Amino acid sequence: MIDVSQKLEELTWVPRPKILALRRLGIETVEDLLTHFPRRHEDRTEFPRFPREESDVPVCLCGEVTKTSLRRFGGWKKIFEATLQESQANALSEPLVCRWFNLHYVQKMIGTGQRIVVFGKPRLRGKRICMDHPEFEVIENDEEISIHFRRIAPIYPATEGLSQRMLRSMVYRLLNEVADHPFKTLLPHALMNGEMTRATAIRAIHFPENWEQRDAAREHLVLSEFFAMQMLIASRRADASIRSGRAHCGSGALLDRILKSLPFELTGAQRKVIAEIRRDLATAHAMNRLLQGDVGSGKTVVAIAAMLLAVEAGYQTAFMAPTQILAEQHYDVLRRWLEPMGVRIALRTAARQEQSGPLPLFEREAQIPGSAPVSGASAVVSTARTSDAQRDREKSSSSRDATTHTRNAYAPQSEASFARDEAQIIVGTHALLYESVSFSNLGLAVIDEQHKFGVAERARLTAREPAPDVLVMTATPIPRTLTMTIYGDLDVSTIDEMPRNRGKIVTAVRDESKLSEVLIFLRGQLERGRQLYVIYPLIDESEKLDVKAAAAEYEVWQERLHPFRCELLHGRIPAPEKQQIMERFRRGDTSTLISTTVLEVGVDVPNASVMLIENAERFGLAQLHQLRGRIGRGEHKSYCILLTSPHAKEASAKLAVLERTSNGFEVAEADWELRGPGDLLGTAQSGLPALKIGNLKTDAHLMRRARTAAMSIFQADPRLESPENQRFRRLIVEKHGRTFSNVS
Ligand code: ADP
Ligand code: MG
Repeated sequence: MIDVSQKLEELTWVPRPKILALRRLGIETVEDLLTHFPRRHEDRTEFPRFPREESDVPVCLCGEVTKTSLRRFGGWKKIFEATLQESQANALSEPLVCRWFNLHYVQKMIGTGQRIVVFGKPRLRGKRICMDHPEFEVIENDEEISIHFRRIAPIYPATEGLSQRMLRSMVYRLLNEVADHPFKTLLPHALMNGEMTRATAIRAIHFPENWEQRDAAREHLVLSEFFAMQMLIASRRADASIRSGRAHCGSGALLDRILKSLPFELTGAQRKVIAEIRRDLATAHAMNRLLQGDVGSGKTVVAIAAMLLAVEAGYQTAFMAPTQILAEQHYDVLRRWLEPMGVRIALRTAARQEQSGPLPLFEREAQIPGSAPVSGASAVVSTARTSDAQRDREKSSSSRDATTHTRNAYAPQSEASFARDEAQIIVGTHALLYESVSFSNLGLAVIDEQHKFGVAERARLTAREPAPDVLVMTATPIPRTLTMTIYGDLDVSTIDEMPRNRGKIVTAVRDESKLSEVLIFLRGQLERGRQLYVIYPLIDESEKLDVKAAAAEYEVWQERLHPFRCELLHGRIPAPEKQQIMERFRRGDTSTLISTTVLEVGVDVPNASVMLIENAERFGLAQLHQLRGRIGRGEHKSYCILLTSPHAKEASAKLAVLERTSNGFEVAEADWELRGPGDLLGTAQSGLPALKIGNLKTDAHLMRRARTAAMSIFQADPRLESPENQRFRRLIVEKHGRTFSNVS
């Protein structure tokens, strides 16, 4: 009898070289191999007759090799052909020709007189029915027949050095030799189906007796996998709710005043999500909420509303953005809107710290000689500026020193207060994560563009006692099933409505050869006073940036758009300079910004209504949608031109999705279809285990059931203390190396 925890290398009958091949797949134990699930099954109970016509559905056929040949073509290339005849030597049946191009090893494996099984799509080639590159297996003896044929046979994920037959034989033998009750069934009753246990399901997924049994087994295993995942998520969530929190909600008087001063009315969706957040803030238990909304849907105002409520209750708030540019932009907006009401705001980024040294925030702020609330310039930039106009503006704007500051300051109503001069809202980048000292009284943390941060970083900001409320925001819409997993431990609020005053964005895919026409159009827009973004094809800022190439790019555009002013923006430009470039663009001094994808998130300049993206086929759909979100922010009609290279016809075809829709969720679904879940799931970011059998796309209904079951277990018993829940601890503690705070 074999125990499932046993190492495969302890079994004498497993060939040594195979041990190594298995190890490469991460398979070490008997259990690992038994849970290396088939990727599909083949119906080999009966082999169909050889086809006479081609078809798009692959078929599984069995025949005898009557002839093989090797032919050369195009110089060094070779075709190996094997002609099969139906086994029952039916004189009338057409033979089947299987062909392999440049595959040396196939010719060594197949010889005349052998019986082989092939799987592939029959194609008509001239008068012959052919199968190109079919999967195949050679039948060696009749005992093998009972394992590999005359049944529904498992087909495993392809692997180097391990044939289907090898894997299948090993699994077959293991299943016969394992002890009686090898696996614990870790599903609650609500998810069980009849008598099926994990042991029977594993047996049946490899060697099902019929298709119903295969389906039932698969459902059981997918549910188990999803349930384990949702238990982990639910436990994270329960953890957060167990930690002591506080209510962080003021009366809303300050919020009302500021909303009245805004140049626009909130949309219904914004009101709805502010109400949801407000309810969370008002309860003592810690908020963990995701705010999703398409680019431009107005998430920042919602964040500001949340922060104001907390400020009003006497707490500090943190507003964390993924890039320097964004942090500075948020800082500007906050100062423009909130400082007149006496709210104290500070900026804290890595770049700024270098400048100012480890001074307490308020002292550093007091050093800043003036602010420019009209233009929204950041403090550092305004000190650097020297133009007369600027100096005038600085003079006329109320001089802001520590005294006026205190006088105007909004007085918190709660005793849970902190130093009078300390900032109430601290805006920053990752640097905030390492600044725990600067929060004396953190009540709410807002994380913008959450997808740029990992779960660990979020935890770092929020793992303190008492727990602050947390609002994370993302403009990357993801399919709903994924929300249940990636953001499964959060409550979700969605802004599903755009502000009304938005001009439409027209998106057009154009071939590079049309550049001269495109340029005429662009100049026309610039002449009308609009501004332009040109995104050049450096996909990732971490990709090595050739500064020369960037400069050349800039020269070319400068010439093309003369006399309109261009500036270049990329990740290697030092932060203060970057900020100045953005500021000149915001003010309209520059009409065109030539940029890498540093622009991707958040940047908001309403007059910039035209965007040209070069080599657009090199970007993913979701990323293009994000980039496109930089325009269409003012009342002007906006244009996004996706320039594609003529060599990338296929990649360019997918871009049509963007011409068709400007709805981020539709783009996300399409992107998912095209790319598969791998990229989107971002397991590293979500901190969740990879899936072995479940498919997030096609098994969405099972994910919902698993989620409901896991949530209800934790709702009734947040620390898994009851005797009947003990068995589920294993799912979380052992599988995910996670411990419970109450487990010693
Ligand atoms: P995102 O959701 O992409 O972060 P922002 O919060 O940056 O979007 O908002 C985009 C622009 O829309 C900003 O200029 C903001 O001031 C403006 N805005 C936000 N809400 C409204 C509204 N209800 N009506 C009109 N404009 C709005
Ligand atoms: Mg934003």
